[in-house]
Amino acid sequence: MLPTRMSTMFLRTLRDDPADAEVPSHRLLVRAGYVRRVAPGIYTLLPLGVKIVERVATIIREEMNAIGSQEVLFPALLPAAPYQQTGRWDEYGDLLMRLKDRRGNDYLLAPTHEEMFTLLVKGEYASYRDYPVMLYQVQTKYRDEARPRSGIMRGREFVMKDSYSFDLDDAGQQHSYDLHRQAYIKTFERLGIDYRIVAAISGAMGGSQSEEFLAPTPVGEDTFVTCSNCDYAANVEAVEVRVEQPDPDATHPPMRNLHTPDSPGIGALVETLNRDHGMDTDASKLLKNILFKVDAKPVMVLVPGDREIDEERLASAVAPGEVTAFDEADFAARPDFVKGYVSALGMQEAGVIVLADPRVAPNSNWVTGANEYEHHVVDAVVGRDFVVDRYVSVATIADGDPCPRCGSPMHLDRAVEVGHIFQLGRKYADAFGLDALGADGKPIRITMGSYGIGVTRAVAVIAEQTHDELGLRWPASVAPFQVHIVAAGKADHIAAALQLADELEAAGVSVLVDDRTTAQAGVKFKDAELLGMPTIVVVGRGLVEGKVELRNRLTGERNDVLLTEIVALLGSS
Ligand code: ATP
Ligand code: MG
Repeated sequence: MLPTRMSTMFLRTLRDDPADAEVPSHRLLVRAGYVRRVAPGIYTLLPLGVKIVERVATIIREEMNAIGSQEVLFPALLPAAPYQQTGRWDEYGDLLMRLKDRRGNDYLLAPTHEEMFTLLVKGEYASYRDYPVMLYQVQTKYRDEARPRSGIMRGREFVMKDSYSFDLDDAGQQHSYDLHRQAYIKTFERLGIDYRIVAAISGAMGGSQSEEFLAPTPVGEDTFVTCSNCDYAANVEAVEVRVEQPDPDATHPPMRNLHTPDSPGIGALVETLNRDHGMDTDASKLLKNILFKVDAKPVMVLVPGDREIDEERLASAVAPGEVTAFDEADFAARPDFVKGYVSALGMQEAGVIVLADPRVAPNSNWVTGANEYEHHVVDAVVGRDFVVDRYVSVATIADGDPCPRCGSPMHLDRAVEVGHIFQLGRKYADAFGLDALGADGKPIRITMGSYGIGVTRAVAVIAEQTHDELGLRWPASVAPFQVHIVAAGKADHIAAALQLADELEAAGVSVLVDDRTTAQAGVKFKDAELLGMPTIVVVGRGLVEGKVELRNRLTGERNDVLLTEIVALLGSS
């Protein structure tokens, strides 16, 4: 290959941060000329961006091919019918990009392709002898994300590698899952991504077992827990809190009703109780009671006062029921619910289903609303004074909470999801009647898995985890070029740099050479640091002694090296 020359490369670096960029990887990918914004969450890849996405995709493809998965390529533009058949046309809500063709038929830009792969296999395969099979694609996906703020980390158009496994039985599906898990471990190691494998809930996919590959970073939108003692790790959305066993010996005084005026919110109520009623209580001993509607029926959710309700977890706990807020109009229609003072007391009689966090354990006592204006009750006991219909883990998890496996304190950290593996089971095979004809002539319902990696997101994650204050710092495995040669001065430096670039390319090393006559040395150095190739070679003053400077962008190390030794040195690395 010929070296790439900065003098003609389609690249303009920016000195200033783009106004809309909130995370470092986004700022740097824009400033270094890898991507340009077209619209919120929609980006153009420039030459450097194309190269790095290609390199990341190549590693992913190699590891998929190595486990015997075969590559196909679906369109992004798809008819609505298959997605209507599984219900996801509606379930996806605002996330789905829907459109109509000229005849008024419904289409979508696919957010993921389970339906299509199921139909594809159904169309081609018939016998049990055809299975198992694994298929994948590297393809553009569309999701109308609510907050596309982190550049290609969360795009509305983005590239995903999605693969799907089809097996005759559960053992086969477990094997396909394990193969993908191993392939993902190898992939993320080769990509140089720092990751954790955590238990996950499978959300809109509707499966059973699922794990996420999370890349820890302070800018992450996911939160995960790790146990300080055992190897438990989970997305906070998937932490199952155990329902404590009732203490049969605990006795509580009878419930009392207290006057609590001017106490809006948990904090003010704690103050009133401690000041006016001689109590010594805190938010964790008060109940937060929130009304929702699930499919238009009132549902009350109870969590300790020091916690919030995680509405996504609530949504998955009551799925397929749909959760909406209990609004002013709903309160107006139910004068028996005293806004600000609602509680679970008497709710069953009022036709309300009471859901509670497991911490609201049987026989535990609480301060809660009295269903009476400006009044609360104390020593309201679960099972004695009010009833919990169902326990659901819907309260937010806090740092230091006990591990569900061993009880030791857990830590919270932030991360970005780079990969996700699901055991789908027979949900999609059931929806489309995907069967194989068995040896005995009877149909066998196929069981499936689906496995995703965010390809463009992975690029942003690597940038996020490896950058420093000067710019990007790509691991050699994905860098657009292995070596960035800077010709510091004029003609003789440029000539030597170009010759070295040719020699390195001939030795199989990819080279970007800064041969610009229009840029000062200082600008070139800054650009080299910003663009982030792992090795920088400076052809400058030392050239008169036959020397160049070798800079390691990852470690910051600098060495003077004989020009004649460079090819042997970098060609073998
Ligand atoms: P998130 O929770 O971050 O929105 P998700 O759970 O919705 O992601 P999946 O449906 O599991 O995502 O998709 C598989 C993979 O695709 C994810 O692990 C992630 O790497 C990538 N991905 C998902 N949404 C986006 C996006 N908007 N932009 C870029 N990559 C994405
Ligand atoms: Mg996911």
